[in-house]
Amino acid sequence: MSVETSLKAALDEAPVPPAPTLWRMNLDLQVKPTWRRMLTGDRPTGPLHLGHYVGSLRYRLALQERIECFVIIADLHVLTTRTERLEELEANVREVVLDYLAVGIDPRKTTIYLQSLVPEVLEIAWLFMSLVSVPRAQRIPTLKQAVRDLQLESASVALLSYPILQAADILMVKGDVVPVSKDNASHIELTREIARRFNRLYRPVFPEPDSPIGPLLVGLDGQKKASKSLGNVILLSDDAETVRRKVRSMFTDPRRIRADIPGRTRGNPVFIYHDFFNDDRAEVEELKQRYRRGRVGDVEVKERLARAINRFLEPIRQRRAYFASRPALVDEIVYEGSRRARAEARETLQEMREAMGLTHFRRGWTS
Ligand code: ATP
Ligand code: MG
Repeated sequence: MSVETSLKAALDEAPVPPAPTLWRMNLDLQVKPTWRRMLTGDRPTGPLHLGHYVGSLRYRLALQERIECFVIIADLHVLTTRTERLEELEANVREVVLDYLAVGIDPRKTTIYLQSLVPEVLEIAWLFMSLVSVPRAQRIPTLKQAVRDLQLESASVALLSYPILQAADILMVKGDVVPVSKDNASHIELTREIARRFNRLYRPVFPEPDSPIGPLLVGLDGQKKASKSLGNVILLSDDAETVRRKVRSMFTDPRRIRADIPGRTRGNPVFIYHDFFNDDRAEVEELKQRYRRGRVGDVEVKERLARAINRFLEPIRQRRAYFASRPALVDEIVYEGSRRARAEARETLQEMREAMGLTHFRRGWTS
């Protein structure tokens, strides 16, 4: 059997991910007829959590049924905020790919690839750097935030150019739709500016991508967004007992010190999670009503939530286990996707050089 047929056979045999009825809850996405290609992705800094699911993974699931999709694992982007422990990247990349496959990102529909296996993106990013002024790059809100959050002395040039590399990732495959969550919107705005500037200065090569904005899921602490470095998350790879434990520790309405005090459901993390993950809508409605009237304790609300999240995660765990026991298959998915992405990158780069009149000494050059 060829690699391609064995890959297809293995994908056909994999356990099925959660049904769309589950993950479409509260999903706000209007697919525009002009959208042809999606690109989005993650830095491999650790395992993915329910926040990633709500804010981005389910948008990819919805889009992969409709248009061509590329999902990048942005390992080079890790170097913008961290120069040590790079030997952890390999394991992290595998975890992220497993999370993708587990939730139902399907390599037959979506090209999953590794940024560093497509070095052409760096040349594209470099060409884009000539189109962005230093003050413009400094105006990106996430830059100051990263310096603050990570307690860096100052930003590296790599961190300053983070969104330019991201623009290269997107425009390399001519992505015209980039689903992101709120914290990333300023990067897509810069991508649009770069595309516009390039097209005007040379010739129209790039689309100006749209970016449907996914919601941010609040953390278990109810204070900040769910974020793995804050430890306030439920991982997609958590087992059932861990989920129960984490849900029990969740923050609820702070003014409600007894079960018979009427509570607030709006903005209450436990109900926000019920709304996203509990497929038993009648149960959610009933719980909300009782909660508002002071007729149900936090313990019951949480128990039912843990059960719902575990119902949701169970098919994800099964699919994860299936792929985790087939590491060679996972590697092949990354290699195959990266080959496909690389072909795109070469083509775009060539088109850019020609548009820019940057073809000198190219014709006779073979290396
Ligand atoms: P870190 O703690 O390392 O910053 P994180 O858990 O915040 O990790 P990131 O890798 O920063 O995750 O997030 C990548 C992308 O995942 C974000 O741009 C966003 O699209 C999405 N995302 C992360 N956290 C959430 C969340 N709580 N709700 C919705 N989307 C999220
Ligand atoms: Mg973050």
